[in-house]
Amino acid sequence: MKRLILPLLLAACVHGDGPAPGWQRLVQSRIVPSPQSIKVTGDGFYALRTGCAVEVVTPVAAAEVRALVNRDFARCWKAEPSLTIKEAASTIIADGYRLKVTSDLCRIEASDLGGIGNALKTVRQIGESERGVLKSLQVNVPCVEVEDFPVLPFRGMHFCLLPEYPAGRLERDIRLAAYYKFNYAVIESWGVLRLDRHPEYSWDEYHITADEMRRLVKVGKELGITLIPQINLLGHASASRHGSGKHVLLDQHPEYASLFEPDGWTWCISNPATRKYLEEMVEETYEVFDKPPFFHVGCDEAYSLGKCQVCSRDIGSYFSEHLLHFQKFLSERGCRMMMWHDMLLDGSDPRWKGYTACGSKTVKSTEVMKSLPKDVLVCVWEYGYPQGEDGSAPKWDSTIYFKDEGFDVLVCPWLNVPGIKAQAKLAGKEKFFGLLETTWHLSSLTSRMEILFALTSCYAWYPEHPLMGVESSAMVNLHIRQVNQDLGAKSYHQFGSAAYQIPLHQSQ
Ligand SMILES: [Zn+2]
Repeated sequence: MKRLILPLLLAACVHGDGPAPGWQRLVQSRIVPSPQSIKVTGDGFYALRTGCAVEVVTPVAAAEVRALVNRDFARCWKAEPSLTIKEAASTIIADGYRLKVTSDLCRIEASDLGGIGNALKTVRQIGESERGVLKSLQVNVPCVEVEDFPVLPFRGMHFCLLPEYPAGRLERDIRLAAYYKFNYAVIESWGVLRLDRHPEYSWDEYHITADEMRRLVKVGKELGITLIPQINLLGHASASRHGSGKHVLLDQHPEYASLFEPDGWTWCISNPATRKYLEEMVEETYEVFDKPPFFHVGCDEAYSLGKCQVCSRDIGSYFSEHLLHFQKFLSERGCRMMMWHDMLLDGSDPRWKGYTACGSKTVKSTEVMKSLPKDVLVCVWEYGYPQGEDGSAPKWDSTIYFKDEGFDVLVCPWLNVPGIKAQAKLAGKEKFFGLLETTWHLSSLTSRMEILFALTSCYAWYPEHPLMGVESSAMVNLHIRQVNQDLGAKSYHQFGSAAYQIPLHQSQ
């Protein structure tokens, strides 16, 4: 039976008697994140090659549109389109777009550059190589009509720039996040970004220069993703994983011990020299990131806060003063402070049972939280799916608490799929500011990247989407290949989703 059906289907495709059964679904499943609506119109194709007709309808200045479209065509298809730009007002929301592809025209409507770029990302994802040749010279795009826009205004990923990352890893992650229509990426340097003011706060063997980070910021901007710097102003002061025992500064410079609490994990925030040291790093990093609209100051898991002879006298006051100082420092520059939530929640409060709360009465978490200005963006990280004792769905009480206190909130899941879905849906329903997906040390291997990048982008884009499923993330290896080629990857360990197919110690 199968032998009979297959030739019939192929015949239908070749002879243009209408699209093959399931063609709509196949085209749709290529797009990450899944669009709000897509209709495949017939079985024709639009050939992406030099001279192909592109029309953009937008209120954006023509010069900016031309630069974006020509740059994307050169990068993605090594082609130069025949571009027409029509200036017109648009009611499409930020980053949204309307796309109509026919066999002789690709028409894009959007109200901003983000929307135009997103339409081109969709075009790239649905396109496929011409068929029946040895070497492909052309990409064909199915004829479609797409209406698409994001539900959450802030769709971010959090990346750790670790010393162990191979060259190009961070750029790959930034490019893939942008390809999946995330519009922000928080970059937390783990002793890797070398600053002029404090070069000693980076590893000699593994640092990258400030100019390299400036280049990545520019790459992100061209791709529609804004890079946000992170410097941990409370805990995680070693810029190293706790379990590694390393300390970016104290291992080689023990003379700086007075800047930290005795164990080195948390900054000593009663010391004026600490504040000056951190201020200098924040200021330079802010410039390196080209004056971003947000700056993440970490502040999670500061377990040894207030443990030295001075801080222990009145840690609540020092804690509050420290945060207010940096909030003001950033606010004066037109930049909003982002911080993790957990030190602002008193862990002994039974309301937060099951949720992450690392604060305490000793450090006066509740009072400190209440002292903060409401322009602080609270990033609530919850990596699990904390069901009630009766097995009921999580209520996310601690997340809603920050909204009720008047803050803009980002939900921050990790690898737990039910947790990602539930928190994204909560963000959509409660109209939170958005979602920030964490990756930590695990932004490699296809199986993880399907969750961290692909699945999460679907939920951040459209939390209630009825079509999302495994299919949406099935193309991730192709997309990784595309972005690796975009960035000019050349060596074995740069290609694919992981540097090595098996851990190196197993191959020796
Ligand atoms: Zn101290």
